[in-house]
Amino acid sequence: MYMKPKVKDIFKRGETAVFKLGSSLIAGEDGVRTDWIDSLAEECKELISRGVKPVIVSSGAIALGRGILGLGNKTLTLAQKQAASAVGQVSLSSLFQTIFNIKKIKTAQVLLTRFTADPQNKEAYQNAVNTMSVLLDMGVVPVINENDVVATEEIKFGDNDRLGAVVARMTGADILFLFSDIDGLYDKDPKTNKDAKFIPLITEITPEIEAMAESSKNPLAAGGMVTKIIAGKMCLEAGCKMVIMHGKAQYPLARLADGERCTWFIPSSPRPKRERAGLPRRSEAKAG
Ligand code: GLU
Repeated sequence: MYMKPKVKDIFKRGETAVFKLGSSLIAGEDGVRTDWIDSLAEECKELISRGVKPVIVSSGAIALGRGILGLGNKTLTLAQKQAASAVGQVSLSSLFQTIFNIKKIKTAQVLLTRFTADPQNKEAYQNAVNTMSVLLDMGVVPVINENDVVATEEIKFGDNDRLGAVVARMTGADILFLFSDIDGLYDKDPKTNKDAKFIPLITEITPEIEAMAESSKNPLAAGGMVTKIIAGKMCLEAGCKMVIMHGKAQYPLARLADGERCTWFIPSSPRPKRERAGLPRRSEAKAG
């Protein structure tokens, strides 16, 4: 029988937890959602005091840049989006820095590209992994986003669900949270299908689950679902847990502890940290 894990059982001392935040969590209709970021900072502080290392993957650069530049919701060219991101990323980093610093937590900005996050590009990948590892050892919370300015259509992640899973892999994380505008996975789009069934637990990506994502007709839901399933698959392969939950209300982890509905991805066999990060074992690294 499926048993919902308790928050105190989710995090163990020494573990790394990645939180992926969508743009709508950062910038709402009424402006920047500082209260929400403050509630996350409070929860990160609590985690740090229990020996857990938080990592943040945050979208919102383009959304914040649109606001600052007065671009509203109008359709932007790629270069305009990149310009909005360049403007907004400064605010995004400074928001986290200001709010987390008040709670005595240091933050760092890390902008990744698909190149630097690809283990095939050994040196760049290893440098990015080392930088994040040193930051975490120094008790700094990395705030990560894609480097939108240099990302082109061909070489971008394009969505931060996958970037979240890549970061979870690079940091050898134990758990990835996708804070979303949906409470988890359904077998059909719940907005258009009244009989859509909620899926509380996934331990392997079966062909049915893959087909489920692909068959979703709503482009937004499909995008959301496909990228979340890809992220889940990457996490399961890396031996990392993943949670998809509604993230818009404040204190998301407290709500999880209170039994809020979510979908868990739980690997059947967790793997050692270095292996999770795609790095050779220490003995092999020395030999090589
Ligand atoms: N990098 C984009 C931004 O910060 C967001 C991409 C995404 O949300 O998936 O605006």
